[in-house]
Amino acid sequence: MMTEKLFQTNSYLKTCSAVIESVEGNKVVLDRTIFAPEAGGQGSDTGFIGQARMVHAEEKDGLVIHELEEVTSDIKVGAEIEMTLDWDNRFDHMQNHLGEHILSGILFNKYGISNKGFHLGTDISTLDADMKKMPDEMVEELELEANRAVFSGLPVEIKLIESKEEAESLPLRKALKVDEDISVVTIPGVDCVACCCPQPADTSQVGIIKIIKAENYKGMTRIYFKCGMRALEDFRLKHKIVTTLNKKYSSEDENLLENIKIQENKFNDVRRDLNTMKVKFAQIEAAALLEGAEKVVAREYEDYTLDDLKMLGKQASEMTDLPIILSSTKVNTVLLTHSGQSSLRCGAVVKEFASGFGGKGGGSDSLAQALFKDPEVMRNFVQIALASI
Ligand SMILES: [Zn+2]
Repeated sequence: MMTEKLFQTNSYLKTCSAVIESVEGNKVVLDRTIFAPEAGGQGSDTGFIGQARMVHAEEKDGLVIHELEEVTSDIKVGAEIEMTLDWDNRFDHMQNHLGEHILSGILFNKYGISNKGFHLGTDISTLDADMKKMPDEMVEELELEANRAVFSGLPVEIKLIESKEEAESLPLRKALKVDEDISVVTIPGVDCVACCCPQPADTSQVGIIKIIKAENYKGMTRIYFKCGMRALEDFRLKHKIVTTLNKKYSSEDENLLENIKIQENKFNDVRRDLNTMKVKFAQIEAAALLEGAEKVVAREYEDYTLDDLKMLGKQASEMTDLPIILSSTKVNTVLLTHSGQSSLRCGAVVKEFASGFGGKGGGSDSLAQALFKDPEVMRNFVQIALASI
């Protein structure tokens, strides 16, 4: 017993009647179907069988098994029932699937490169070209050639072939896998391959083929692409992004990147100026800190970040050989540092005492830091560190 696959001879059949042959749980077999099952890297059609939503179809031993979301009362063995195809989903599959045939056909016929894998995703599709690193110019050329084939409106010829011998007389791009019921899809001058998925009547229905990216994948080049409506949606999204950026940078498409670069340079200048100011400010701060210090330079701050403490510590250590202990209640962190001339081993002090106060940290002989849970334990640690000098 086999399910008659109406989609193979008429891919535009959106509704048709069929007789229910079996119902098992929520799985239904019909005498014939308009629904293409999941196959060769492509998801299945969806739609309605009578009142019931059909969510997935798969093929097993010549039978197409339709999975229903819920078995409605009209689903009964022997009943004649109406099938309704989710056409938008199907046409999207047809556009992207034929796009893959066109890309693969050009890769094979023009460059002698095989397609080792195809996946029609819900958002983007991929094909794996058997070439290690495809140059950018070649990707662009492939895209251009593929769209030329689309714009030429070439017929897509489907031939159901009786025997393997008959199929082998055709210039097939891929070796055959099955022995019977072979459907060969030919785009004159572009591609010829065995395939049982529904196809558009001519290449112009693909609309457009856009390669999104090409990257290395297991020693091959994985090509990501979008066709038809997906390519339009992609263009709409990117157009929206570019329009927003043009407004933000007072640009036109042509000088947008240049204007972004100019803004980036300005931002870098401001950042450099800010850093220079911070250093100058830290030098002034350090000079004041050193006044009157005899054995050690120590101070607690309220609003300093760790970077602020480091900057101040660095400037101060360039002005004195005394050990420096700076802390901030904003980050509950203590910084120990010196010029290298002090005998205080900063890292060792942190290692020896900080953990006793629940602190975490470490560092070298001349620069170390320790982080604490609250200001009180941080201050206790500072007292111990001061006592160790
Ligand atoms: Zn195919």
